[in-house]
Amino acid sequence: MSRSKSAAVTNSSDVPGEYRHFYEAAENSLDDFYLFDGVPDETGQIVDFRFSYINPNAERRLGILRGDLIGKILTEERPFMVTSGLIVKYREVVRTGLPFVTEVFLDDERIKATWLNVQVVKVGDGIAITSRDITEHKRLSDHVYHLAHHDHLTGAANRTLLKERLDQALLRARRHKHRVAVFLIDIDRFKQINDSLGHTVGDALLVAVAGRLLGSVRQLDTVARMGGDEFVIVMPDFKKIEDVERCGQKIVHNAGQPVQIGDREVDVTISAGICIYPDFGQSADELFRNADAAMYAVKQSGRNGLRIFDESLPKS
Ligand code: GH3
Ligand code: MG
Repeated sequence: MSRSKSAAVTNSSDVPGEYRHFYEAAENSLDDFYLFDGVPDETGQIVDFRFSYINPNAERRLGILRGDLIGKILTEERPFMVTSGLIVKYREVVRTGLPFVTEVFLDDERIKATWLNVQVVKVGDGIAITSRDITEHKRLSDHVYHLAHHDHLTGAANRTLLKERLDQALLRARRHKHRVAVFLIDIDRFKQINDSLGHTVGDALLVAVAGRLLGSVRQLDTVARMGGDEFVIVMPDFKKIEDVERCGQKIVHNAGQPVQIGDREVDVTISAGICIYPDFGQSADELFRNADAAMYAVKQSGRNGLRIFDESLPKS
């Protein structure tokens, strides 16, 4: 099977005997497999590709008879190659001879909502592409990632994700001279709710409070459950302390609305302590400690409120 210009092959009788095994391997591969000839521009540089072989799995994936694609130009048949920038990578494979592997999400007129693993290698002045459906694998790994980074009860971020987000926020704040606010939030007299109404109602209350915290912040803020009835909010990149204070008041107000659980209305309030980077804490540990001291001060002065750490407060 010669790989010179468009040696389009669609049945094994076209293939010289000594290459028939290669042909059958490609035909029977469980992957999608394509061969493309390079299409040069006037300077001789390969800028596009012409379909020269498509295996049955690739044919099924594209939902078009391969005979209708052989000899056609890749970017004309698959505009996605241009919009996604993949064509540039494919040209690079020919130019450099280096293979290219990627994972790409396709949702166009031919391939619907599919994640593909795509492997591209240079063959002559063209390329060979092997690709396979990894949608299910992606869905599972996204699910595992979500489980590993979120609190199972409330769906808020867990400590692992909180640490990642806070580290990132501090790194960026250091670089761009931003500030970061860390809120430590604890539900008031939650033990009483558990003791009087039961653990199930307590759990439902935790879910409701988490929902309200999430609903009170911007998308770039992180709401995490530390454990028990304690939550943390990381607010990166704000302008003035008054903005943090206003937002904190909104959070305390929203979370403090009675919660309807079954046919029962349960009263709830929260106490929040805030520490601001870099004003009163340089590291995550110091920020948490000082936010905790501020929160403790709120608990001491009657709960259902907010305090921003400053030097008048004893460090915890
Ligand atoms: P304070 O106002 O001082 O915070 O009083 P509190 O009663 O809320 O005291 P604290 O915050 O120390 O109590 C937290 C309680 O949360 C203790 C524990 O029984 C309960 N708890 C911890 N995890 C869970 C959970 O997953 N579900 C439920 N329902 N309760 C939990
Ligand atoms: Mg509490």
